[in-house]
Amino acid sequence: MRATPITVPLSIGVLTFTGMVCHRVQSQQNWLPTAPPAAPQRLRSDLKNCPRAANPDPLLGRRTKESGRWVGRGAVPSTIPIVVMAGHADSQRLGSAGTPGYAVDVRKQQPMNGAMRDELYWNFQVQSAVVRLGQKRGLNITSYVPPLLTIRDDNDPRTNWSQARVRSSKGHYILEIHFDAYSPYGFGSGLIPAINRPLNQLDESIAQSFGRFPRLFRGGLGGPRRGIGILEIGMLEPPLEQKLRDPATRAQTVECLGLRVVDALVKGVS
Ligand SMILES: [Zn+2]
Repeated sequence: MRATPITVPLSIGVLTFTGMVCHRVQSQQNWLPTAPPAAPQRLRSDLKNCPRAANPDPLLGRRTKESGRWVGRGAVPSTIPIVVMAGHADSQRLGSAGTPGYAVDVRKQQPMNGAMRDELYWNFQVQSAVVRLGQKRGLNITSYVPPLLTIRDDNDPRTNWSQARVRSSKGHYILEIHFDAYSPYGFGSGLIPAINRPLNQLDESIAQSFGRFPRLFRGGLGGPRRGIGILEIGMLEPPLEQKLRDPATRAQTVECLGLRVVDALVKGVS
């Protein structure tokens, strides 16, 4: 903390966080302006109104237009440790920061949180819903959140990739939540499975629920090589993005997305 703050009209609480971010923000031309912090959402418990899965899906949009043909057959112990990560949680302000989404990129709306791309904002929301709902359903499920939004060295032990490599080698199932780019850049929802191990019934169950990308999508991405299954929830565009951004439908939408993932996980270990 600096000893002589000069003209910073911020509360100390904000300063400790934004203070360190600001230096870097100013040095990044493509960085995004800060929106007021989002109020915490109280999640509703009734999930009766979650749309049922279909293709195209009323909740997620279309499934990936590039589809894989793999089948996950390996049995999975019901107690398998499942680790849920948020995609791009350690790569903000780097080339792989994630999609800003249609609202910010095309409609020039404010980002949900100026410290991160909208994709990461929603990745975090879905990550915590999946872990909370999954624990309620009896899954052995936890999250991993890196301590910094920007970690330049992929091999730093605190990155998603490093954590995944270690945990995957112990037999943990690593699922990283993502939203895909908007049309025409995105592909749609689906699982890009891990490529460091045989595919199993958890992979299969998620693919049946969300769709499946080719196993070697884009030649085999860095995450899957380290044991990460990348789950593209859907493209960050209307109507899904709109339902997420609208405060009246946000909590329910996040809850329904979390429930979709947890249902697939529960089926995969049963
Ligand atoms: Zn992503």
